[in-house]
Amino acid sequence: VARIVNLEIRHVRLDLKKKIKHASHERQASDNVVVVVTLDDGTRGYGEGVPRSYVTGETVESAIADLQSWPLFDIIGEAGNLADVVRSLEAWVPAPKVGDFRGIGSNSARCAAEIAILDAFSRHFGVPVGEAFRFSEVAAELPIETPQPVRYSGAITAETPWKEKISATKMRIWGFRQVKVKVGIDGADEVARLKRIRRRLGSKCDMRLDANEAWSPDQFRTWAERLAFSFPSAFEQPVPHEAIAELGKPEFHQPFPVILDESLCGPVDAENAIRGSFGEIFNVRLSKCGGFLPSLKLVAMAIRSGRRYGLGCHPGESPILSAAGRAVASRLRNLAFLEGSYDRHVLAEPFATSDITFGYGGKAKPLSGPGLGIEIDMKKLEAVTVSRLDLSRE
Ligand SMILES: [Mg+2]
Repeated sequence: VARIVNLEIRHVRLDLKKKIKHASHERQASDNVVVVVTLDDGTRGYGEGVPRSYVTGETVESAIADLQSWPLFDIIGEAGNLADVVRSLEAWVPAPKVGDFRGIGSNSARCAAEIAILDAFSRHFGVPVGEAFRFSEVAAELPIETPQPVRYSGAITAETPWKEKISATKMRIWGFRQVKVKVGIDGADEVARLKRIRRRLGSKCDMRLDANEAWSPDQFRTWAERLAFSFPSAFEQPVPHEAIAELGKPEFHQPFPVILDESLCGPVDAENAIRGSFGEIFNVRLSKCGGFLPSLKLVAMAIRSGRRYGLGCHPGESPILSAAGRAVASRLRNLAFLEGSYDRHVLAEPFATSDITFGYGGKAKPLSGPGLGIEIDMKKLEAVTVSRLDLSRE
């Protein structure tokens, strides 16, 4: 039997190796929230959330305020096994905020808390954190199997033509099977970009295009036609969330599957997509969707409605979310795509003691060992901490 005795809530700022640019944002550092949970036997667990105002409406400040306001010591109480912990976490749904009709305004905070709690308790019980998944309410509906190696996607952002050519050539040489290309940047000649990128990726590489809400439905239809020559496998979030339901109207036609990203943060979003017949693929990201257990429920909703699902990430995630994503990806089959574990490529100084960045062709192995399967370098974590709150059980 174990219980939580201490909680640290940290605002961390992770320097990025280069600027990350897409249609809705640009950044040189990533502001994340890290939760450190300590159990009464001294076991520590780590969780992370990436609050993004243009995704869930959260900020670092709102996420920290949420974490402070929740009765996290009592949510679990005393746990005798991992199934108990999962049951307690599933019963815990943070109350929606005023005006938050999608029920997503605390998702990254919930993710940070949930992953820290599951990491701590699975370490305590001596099992990998992924063992928790089979206790989920929806486990029977999901293709969860023993951990297997995975393949991550590469990503090409808008760059100078020369750099885009180099990126695409590298993806091909390194043997990536899937690549995501960011489109919709103002003033970019997408036809020329996609010509040079597709030529270098080769015809076999699965290429999807992420517009990050850049287009109107009409513009999307036009771009879908103009870019069809590069045979993209799907378009991700082509239009703003406010316009996404347009894509389900019978009069709206375009031939490509649409991946919902900004429009898929919680069960209300998933229900709307199903009812409105739009979005063939769900992009599930742990932070924006509220953690492991809410994410698995979204996957179950995708399966029930005949949709596909992929696992995405936030650029700027630390090794904590990389490891958490690996726990899902290595066990959950039939992912339409997989993103994450960019650590060494994106972060100036990842704070795990081992490097879990994917290798050639995006290949990576399942992480073994208890909990998330990584160790945190506390000195490095301290160095990137902007502020820290300590809460103890009374
Ligand atoms: Mg996206």
